[in-house]
Amino acid sequence: MSSGWDLSEGHYDPRRILTEEDLNDIFSCLFSNKSKNTTSYKFGFLKSILDNLYNVDINLSLSFNAIFSKFAESYWNLVLVHKLKQCRGASSGKIYDILHEAWNNLPENKGRLENNNVIPFESLSAEVQVKIISNVTKECSKYVVGAIYSDSKGNFYSFSKKSKTITLNPVVYQYLLRHKTMIEKVNYFEWAKFLHDVNESSSNDYLESLDYSTKRNNLDAYRKILFEEFEHRCFYCGAPLMDDRNTHVDHFIPWSFVKDDKLWNFVLACSRCNESKNNKLPPRDKIEKIVDRNRIILDRRASDSLIDTRTYTDETIPHLYKVAAINGFNFVWNCV
Ligand SMILES: [Zn+2]
Repeated sequence: MSSGWDLSEGHYDPRRILTEEDLNDIFSCLFSNKSKNTTSYKFGFLKSILDNLYNVDINLSLSFNAIFSKFAESYWNLVLVHKLKQCRGASSGKIYDILHEAWNNLPENKGRLENNNVIPFESLSAEVQVKIISNVTKECSKYVVGAIYSDSKGNFYSFSKKSKTITLNPVVYQYLLRHKTMIEKVNYFEWAKFLHDVNESSSNDYLESLDYSTKRNNLDAYRKILFEEFEHRCFYCGAPLMDDRNTHVDHFIPWSFVKDDKLWNFVLACSRCNESKNNKLPPRDKIEKIVDRNRIILDRRASDSLIDTRTYTDETIPHLYKVAAINGFNFVWNCV
């Protein structure tokens, strides 16, 4: 890792005016090959920030926990499920050790030499997930947060290892919103090149593994809450729904853009609507409907941990809709 990793805090200078060139520099510097990366952690860190772009609070702060929850999930799936090495050289790296140990310590794996069928992160118990996230956070906050701050010449964010938060520079935050999809693609491309270098097998579809490393398949818990709270009809076409797998849990703003699972972005839909909508934006006239629906969730289930509305406001969905369109998600699906 580059210099700066041992800083305990750092602050961007709010008086400094960043030109478009300075902003480009932050990211080209992250992607440059000036020093050969020994690990993929900076790519993982950037992905975790991009995946959390809509979870910032009013000061644009993100907790280490929010960032490294994504990081841990992504690395579990890449390293253990897809068996993709994330370090150059003989060592497998500390993150691998943390994950591997957690997997070996599961009661069902005790005593087995090697278990090849690793379950996805989302299927681990909450208790195991929390422990892994806490160990990954300790390791990454030690080596990654200060190094990337320093690589960006202090322009990307402020951070404090004491309060365990980073606060994005507002100018950089706006830049990330405008260019999210493009930066994400460049990040995957550079990460995939790194994986190609350090992994022997080249038959893997690296880009797909990276993109899907935080995609969840089991959305039953969300289906259950929505089904309990709302009328049993498709959010889009109004067709009656049953409490079963034919009722789809749809990401209102497509998952392929947000890369996150939040209840406020989920609706229940019939399979026909869900499949034909795919990763297109929903009709504009449904925005008001979902904002109203979310007010009801906020009222009724504010304390439910799945809902996570700490950073959600009435503006979140309309804003996200606009930003998705700027990023090239400009196909609007029409429900017929
Ligand atoms: Zn429908």
